[in-house]
Amino acid sequence: MERKTAFISGASRGIGEAIAITLSKEYNVIINYAHSEEGARAVLAQCDPEGHHKMIQCDISDGEQVKAMLEEIVKEYGHLDVVVNNAGITKDNLLLRMSDADFDDVIRVNLKGTYNCIRHVARIMMKQKSGAIVNMASVVGLCGNMGQANYAASKGGVIALTKSCAKELASRGIRVNAVAPGFIATAMTDKLADSVKESALASIPMKKFGAVQDVANVVKFLCSEDSTYITGQVIAVDGGMVM
Ligand code: NAP
Repeated sequence: MERKTAFISGASRGIGEAIAITLSKEYNVIINYAHSEEGARAVLAQCDPEGHHKMIQCDISDGEQVKAMLEEIVKEYGHLDVVVNNAGITKDNLLLRMSDADFDDVIRVNLKGTYNCIRHVARIMMKQKSGAIVNMASVVGLCGNMGQANYAASKGGVIALTKSCAKELASRGIRVNAVAPGFIATAMTDKLADSVKESALASIPMKKFGAVQDVANVVKFLCSEDSTYITGQVIAVDGGMVM
């Protein structure tokens, strides 16, 4: 059977890397990155050798770049079956110290970037009459977090965007779901102060941080034929942090 094609934004390291490597066992994967070419190359090298995988540079916050990139993918592969909107950034600060630029940057990449990819792939998937989109939210998009007003707002937006798009696209055979990780050990969380990590650990009933594979496994399920009657949902992968 012909392999399906999956695009993963921000797949040059961390959670996106695990998603790309996991999906590469079944799909042709397209590894997106904005700056980290070396990282993307290393991820590509770890993908299943059976597939036809590639890496592609694109800043997802730029709608025109996203449109051109997705058109290029469809031209090469003929179809695009799965889009995982994983790319994200943080620029944490307390509200009164937060610059407007840091607020705007995080909204532009996390929320507008996710919107850009959904908007431009929706047309492609509508023609195919099928597709699965998985958006990377966060538990802080559900409950907020001190020092992360910009990031939490972006992820709350991703959740509302997921549900709105799920409603609009369901009748076209396109499912849209979100995953909300809690505290997952990656470069993004490595840079947090030890005191922040300790207090995060104290709030996790399972008393451990998650691994990137924990998130990748749920993304794989939401892309697959095992979840064909699931849309508009937000699945927390957080060791019980938010219930
Ligand atoms: P990470 O290690 O910092 O990786 C972020 C990825 O996003 C990188 O591949 C980066 O590539 C890419 N990226 C950033 N800006 C981009 C842009 N404008 N266009 C395209 N790609 C871009 O982060 P992570 O911890 O794996 O997090 C992945 C996702 O999970 C994010 O959406 C994050 O908010 C979410 N999440 C993470 C946690 C956690 O505990 N780690 C918890 C909840 C949610 P370049 O270096 O090439 O820019």
